[in-house]
Amino acid sequence: MNKVMITKTKVQAIDSRHFIDGKYIEIDKNKSFENINPATEEVQAIVAEGGKEEVDAAVKAARKALNGPWKNVTLEERSKMLRKIGDLILERQEELARLEALDTGKPFSLANSVDIPRAAYNFHFFADYITSVGTDAYQQNSEALHYTLRRPVGVVGMIKPWNLPLLLLTWKLAPCIGMGNTVVVKPAEWTPMTATVLMEIIKEAGVPDGVVNLVHGFGPGSAGGAISEHPDVDAISFIGEPSTGSAIMKAGADSLKKLSYELGGKNPNIIFADADIDEVVATTVKSSFINQGEVCLCGSRIYVERSAYDEFLEKFTAKAKELKVGQPFDKDTNVGALVSKEHYDRVNSYIDIAREEGGKFVIGGKRPEGIDKGYFLEPTIITGLKNDSRCIKEEIFGPVVTVVPFDTEEEVIEQANDTHYGLSASIWTTNLKRGHRVAHQIEAGIIWVNTWFLRDLRTPFGGMKHSGVGRTGGMHSIDFYSELSNITIKL
Ligand code: NAD
Repeated sequence: MNKVMITKTKVQAIDSRHFIDGKYIEIDKNKSFENINPATEEVQAIVAEGGKEEVDAAVKAARKALNGPWKNVTLEERSKMLRKIGDLILERQEELARLEALDTGKPFSLANSVDIPRAAYNFHFFADYITSVGTDAYQQNSEALHYTLRRPVGVVGMIKPWNLPLLLLTWKLAPCIGMGNTVVVKPAEWTPMTATVLMEIIKEAGVPDGVVNLVHGFGPGSAGGAISEHPDVDAISFIGEPSTGSAIMKAGADSLKKLSYELGGKNPNIIFADADIDEVVATTVKSSFINQGEVCLCGSRIYVERSAYDEFLEKFTAKAKELKVGQPFDKDTNVGALVSKEHYDRVNSYIDIAREEGGKFVIGGKRPEGIDKGYFLEPTIITGLKNDSRCIKEEIFGPVVTVVPFDTEEEVIEQANDTHYGLSASIWTTNLKRGHRVAHQIEAGIIWVNTWFLRDLRTPFGGMKHSGVGRTGGMHSIDFYSELSNITIKL
């Protein structure tokens, strides 16, 4: 096979090639695009651009593998492969973390402590989990016995975003191949490198050729569109924006694809005055600005009970000011660069909108001083916006949060729910009854009380309303990546 040339000590950006039927495909320079480093704005590598032809070859390879020897690989063997993939990711942790930081602009320290270890854990978790999955059986008096058979869905298309590239891809890939499916992966065009290396790891772990294929490219009219339309793709696992989800749904409608969607969020943090404000502030700084605010679970609408508003805002602003915006590979960097020029412009357009809407910039709203290149933005806290302002309604997906006071529980619940999104929420109170009461009324798939981002991979993960279709995590992932047949035996 073609080896990705990476030395383990000083990792440079790599060209991203397609991986089809167990082989990397040499890049045709006429069908490629530039990979731009978001922290320097320089071209750091090239990426192969696939379309119908490459996706078709990848789907054929996936179909052949599904009907070939992969079918007879036992659950225990698949579990061992998942474990091995997780182990190999950890062996190459630093190299993968460097590539992730080069591609996304995020701090290397974050990629090395969160993205890559969690990518390995996704495989380790499902290596164990798939071996514990049972099926249903019912005895109907003395008349019949019913039992359920679980089998793969088939060829799955995976279309992924750029914010947590390897973490989110592996979150889907592990249960998908664990349940015996085959796959065509399309990473986001801005962040193709770690997925490219993952193919080498998957091959080394003994996964047969054709089980996992990778085609790079863009969305409509490119690799993403070709996967969505392909009549021989049985299911799509998509993470990205709601409008893209809708386009993929339309493109796949003729072939009635099974869909799993994790989409955007405009998540509220609801802070009651009885909460431990220092603890709230420490967590809110993370939930606002970690990964440059480019996490679907980031709390971007902060609601604070009026009697605690001034104290919260003062302490929150002071802590946010301590964050160092800087180069991804500087040890003390907390906030890196936004992923691309296009996204940087989009986030900045919301800064302009907030100004037009009469928002007050407590901090931020501009490029940090002393950094002339790269897509850097200071952590930004905006107050004074009305509830119907676009900055409160629409997902910005950057280091920009709004803070709004509230007076009553009813009022804040209404405001928190007044959006098309329903991904996550965090509620802060020391009143246990109120914690439950408010949580039960918030329209979101993931609700934390007195914490944020605390995950157990067995729990359902996903969003309500325009934030998602279906759930993943534990049994929910197993259910999506398998088809059930009920078998009835007359006794
Ligand atoms: P995006 O929707 O622009 O792109 C996601 C992927 O879809 C990319 O690979 C892109 O090339 C592809 N794509 C775009 N248009 C397509 C089309 N018409 N057909 C097929 N494929 C197409 O999203 P993004 O900007 O990469 O990611 C940011 C979004 O993802 C935010 O809304 C964020 O909240 C969301 N997100 C959600 C979760 C979650 O778990 N709910 C996690 C991470 C990100």
